This record gives sequence, C-alpha cells and structure tokens, in this order.
Amino acid sequence: MTKGAAPGLLDVLPPTAAHADDGRLTVGGCALADVAAEFGTPALVFDEQGLRERAREYRAAFTALHPGSDVHFASKALPCAPVLRILAEEGVGCDVASAGELAIALAAGFDPAHILLHGNAKSDRDIGDALAAGVGLVVIDNGDDVDRLVRLGASGQPVLVRVNPAVPGQTRAAIDTGSAEAKFGVPLAQAPALLHRVDGLAGLDLVGLHVHIGSQLLDLDGFARAAEAIAALGDFGVYDLGGGLGIPYTPDERAPSVADYAEATVAALHDHLDAAARLIVEPGRSMVGPSGVTLYEAITVKRGARTHVAVNGGMGDNLEPMLYGTRFTAAIVDRDRPPESCDLVGHHCESGDVLVPGVDLATPEVGDLVVLAATGAYCYSLMNNYNGARRPPVVLVRDGEARLAVRREEMADLLARDVL
Ligand code: PLP
Repeated sequence: MTKGAAPGLLDVLPPTAAHADDGRLTVGGCALADVAAEFGTPALVFDEQGLRERAREYRAAFTALHPGSDVHFASKALPCAPVLRILAEEGVGCDVASAGELAIALAAGFDPAHILLHGNAKSDRDIGDALAAGVGLVVIDNGDDVDRLVRLGASGQPVLVRVNPAVPGQTRAAIDTGSAEAKFGVPLAQAPALLHRVDGLAGLDLVGLHVHIGSQLLDLDGFARAAEAIAALGDFGVYDLGGGLGIPYTPDERAPSVADYAEATVAALHDHLDAAARLIVEPGRSMVGPSGVTLYEAITVKRGARTHVAVNGGMGDNLEPMLYGTRFTAAIVDRDRPPESCDLVGHHCESGDVLVPGVDLATPEVGDLVVLAATGAYCYSLMNNYNGARRPPVVLVRDGEARLAVRREEMADLLARDVL
C-alpha cells in the first residue's frame, strides 16, 4: 500500500487510509468501493485500528503526564454499542448523559464503576437507572439533581459538582458550554452553597468538581482559565475538566494533538488545582471523529447556476453542517477527472440540506461513489428519519475485513412504533 491520494485528502481520512497497489482508496485494508458494493450506501464506515490507536494514544498521553488520570469517552459523540465495546476493550471509561446512553454503555460492556452520568436536566429515570447500575460517578448539575438523588435513595454515591466557570469555550455558540449564560452547571457564585449542601448529605460522597467549556476547541487556553475559575471553591480529590478537543475537518484546518490537549489539561490541574488529585477528561469528537467516513452515491448531477451533486443521504445522516456550520471534506472515490466546483447536497426536501458547499469534485457523474471524511463524531448521534430516510448502517473495517456493526434501517423500521 502506498499513501498517494489527492493532496490533502489523506490528512482527514482515517489513519489507515491509503491507496492500494491497484490505485483504489482503502481504509482498514478494504477498498471503499468494495465496502459500498457489499453494504450499500449511504454507510458510515469506521477504521477499527484507528479507533483503538486513538484510545491508546489518549490513555498513554495522559498517564505519561499525570498517572492518576482517567479517560472517559463522551458517548454522546457516538452512542453505538459495537463501537463502544471496542473503546471499552481499550480500557477507557464512558460518560453518559441520559438513561438511554447508560443502557447503551452497559450493553457495550463498560464496567459501571467506570461510567459517569452527567446532564443539565436529569430525570428520575436517568438518576434511578444510574444508581441501580452502580455508576462510578454522578455529576450534579443543580439542586434538583440533589433532591432526586436523595429521594431515590442514593447511598454512598460518589458525586462531582459541575460548575459553570463563566469561561466561554472558543467555538461556535451552539457548542459553547462554558459561558455564564450557558445552561450547564451551577453558577460560580452559587457553587459554595450547593457544595456545602452536598457535603452535608450522608447519601452522597462529594469527591470533586466538573467543568466542560465546549466542543471543537482549537485553542486550549480555556482549560487553564476554567481551572483557575474553580480553584477557590476548595480542595478536592477529583477534577473532571471535560472534553472538547477539536479535530481538523479539512486538510488546511489545524487542531492541537492529543498530546497538546493532555499537556494543557494536566498543566491546568497542576498549576491551578491540585497536582495530587485525580484527573478525568471526557473526549468525544476527538476520540472517534477522525476514524469515521460516510459513503454516498451520487444520484443526480444538475448543472445550472451551480453544479448540484445530490447524493442519497444528507441532513438525515449528517446534521453537523446545518447545526454547526461544520465544513467537511468530500471527494469522489477512485476517479481521476478534472475538478469542478460543486455544491454537494442531500436528497431531503429542504434547501438547507447542503453537505459541502463550493467543493471541488472530479467532474461528478451519476453513480459516482462519494466519501465524506471525519464523520465519526456526532453524525450517528444526530441521525434522523427526515423524509422517511432509513438510517444507514455502521460498518467496521480492519485488516482487510469489513463487518456490519449496525444494520441499515428498513421500511418496517419507519412504522415499527406506530400504533395503527
Ligand atoms: N463532556 C460533556 C459534559 C459534554 O457536554 C461534551 C460535549 O459537548 C463532552 C464531554 C464531549 O465533548 P467533545 O466531543 O467536544 O470532546
């Protein structure tokens, strides 16, 4: 195998992406064209080796700088049990934001002691299921969480308190969670009272603090500022500094490495909090995003005021461009034709259903196989059935083998919950 794709494309494809000796684009040793032929399109394809290597990289980077570190995968980025199982096998823990994500994490095989539950509005079900499962940590976001924990009979439950540090994450508004106006965590000024209350309750074991300032962070300065903001709240044995490391979506986008992120968060802990405390981090996007790609087929090519290349997917399987303005990298697989500026659009009845505007594609033709890079995070979680779209399968590729992890939805799935 030789690396040798169009300049830059390989930089945002999964780590094992390469061109085979016959020139075809492969991931995990499987030609993407073969994967599409076997499993159909659209399909979400994951590089299993890439997932495993990233999990190991995370654990190694943190334990090298701070042996008392725990890496918990933020399952909201990819609540898919077969993939979670791979991460559990690699020894990372899991962060869940609801009873639903907890059920998925348990099915995947995570040790409950290695699961933490957070969320700004936890229901009785969320907290009750977490207590019944014996999760390692519950992150208290507000006084109502405390009421529920007490009412539902928490006994010796280790808890963290999530504080809103009033440190905006330098990212898009929808995924900034650290601003004073954000809905997450107890406001700094109210934190001492909540901590005092939690500390006085026999059923709860207050072990530390939690902050999470945002997602797709390409600048790491916020971690130190968030740590500084909560430093005066007392000395604790555990600090969870959240997730948020961004990833490059285009070849020219630069993101800090996992090592940079480890350095920044460990320095935040050592400089502002307690170098002897346990550190938890909750990466989601950066754990799985780079290892996933989506495969589509071009259904229609319309050349008018713009060239619209419409594929057999769109905002039903990838809401990131519409929700967050994420700019993905797209390419036609195994075709070497002159570039043409196109809008890569979906098949949904909505003008906003644009996957990548103004992208150079190799003079597209109907039937072409299109790959969208770095779709491993938040695409699966945000999939929907808009226009009766059936959610695509998840396929894992590794060492030349492709295996189905989640089957494609069928027509019957669209009606499965209807009471007719
Ligand atoms: N932890 C919490 C509390 C979150 O809300 C999120 C997502 O915003 C994450 C972790 C994961 O963030 P990311 O996927 O950006 O690493």
